[in-house]
Amino acid sequence: MNDPRWTDPTENPEDQELAVSLRPRTLDEFIGQNELKENLRVFIQAARQRGEVLDHVLLHGPPGLGKTTLSQIVAAEMGLEIRLTSGPAFTNSAELIALLTEQADRRAIFIDEIHRLGKVIEEHLYPAMEDFRVELIIDKGPNARHFNMQLEPFTLIGATTRAGLLTPAMRSRFGIVCHLDFYPASDLAIIVTRSADILGIGINSEGAMEIARRSRGTPRAANRLLRRVRDYAQVDGVEVIDQKTADRGLTRLGVDHLGLEALDRRYLKLIIEHFGGGPVGISNMSVSLGEESDTLEDVVEPFLIQSGLLKRTSRGREVTPHAWVHLGLEMPPEDTSGGLQGELL
Ligand code: ADP
Repeated sequence: MNDPRWTDPTENPEDQELAVSLRPRTLDEFIGQNELKENLRVFIQAARQRGEVLDHVLLHGPPGLGKTTLSQIVAAEMGLEIRLTSGPAFTNSAELIALLTEQADRRAIFIDEIHRLGKVIEEHLYPAMEDFRVELIIDKGPNARHFNMQLEPFTLIGATTRAGLLTPAMRSRFGIVCHLDFYPASDLAIIVTRSADILGIGINSEGAMEIARRSRGTPRAANRLLRRVRDYAQVDGVEVIDQKTADRGLTRLGVDHLGLEALDRRYLKLIIEHFGGGPVGISNMSVSLGEESDTLEDVVEPFLIQSGLLKRTSRGREVTPHAWVHLGLEMPPEDTSGGLQGELL
């Protein structure tokens, strides 16, 4: 339960401190995700040419892939001030209304984890997004009076790790919907090299590639592993991180060649050793591992699925033959009764 998670893509205080210096500030500095970037570039240019606000933007994808960064870039390229907040930060509708009615023109509002906005609170966003209007209700019961308040046009940028949990009503109000994918190692190597440059860390291209390959397709993890490998290099008196130094550091951190850490391996091993390879339900996995099911679904599983080690089916989670091979375990003899082997043939 307490395995250190070096590649955990959720933000920690050290990340926050460095975020300011490492965060790309323009679309040109933002590495990878080319199709998405080019689309955004066109939408931004078109809105600017018309002198209109940009349509509301929904960014979805696993944590640490650049949703917050992109929201700030979009705002900057549109020349907007941006207010950053998150779904769970709102405990009642009044807080959202206060934010919406703040005196400010030309602004973007970023709501992270927008799927976690309460249902009633969310309903106040609909008229605000659609007609730049909020409905205020004064008094209760028979004395209740409704007022409409007009807002300055704004762009809402919502981010979510779970697009599937958004209500259709919410989702349909975003004119621009962008999905962020895990980054290929070649893009992450550029990110590692750029970050090393900013932080004054010596690294050659093989060293950057080694860190990139083991960063779970996630820029935040890549930046974090770079810093930890730098620590090892510094203590070992190495000035320029090469492939060997990176490999040694990452191995000492318990990050294997695919970027898996102890929790990932425990997750796969559990399915193999206790559930015959699967299928197994998420709540069962959560109890057996002593981890929140949200952590498993947001952080652990997307990358295991992306790496071809895990499948999510209607019956539950199942490991693939690659998982057995990766863990150095022997697959059981072929089962023709329709079990794991039967399915895979
Ligand atoms: P999310 O909001 O999706 O969790 P962030 O936007 O906070 O992710 O990104 C995490 C960190 O990764 C940022 O501080 C930034 O330095 C880095 N990062 C993310 N995407 C990129 C990118 N495309 N190019 C360079 N650095 C990136």
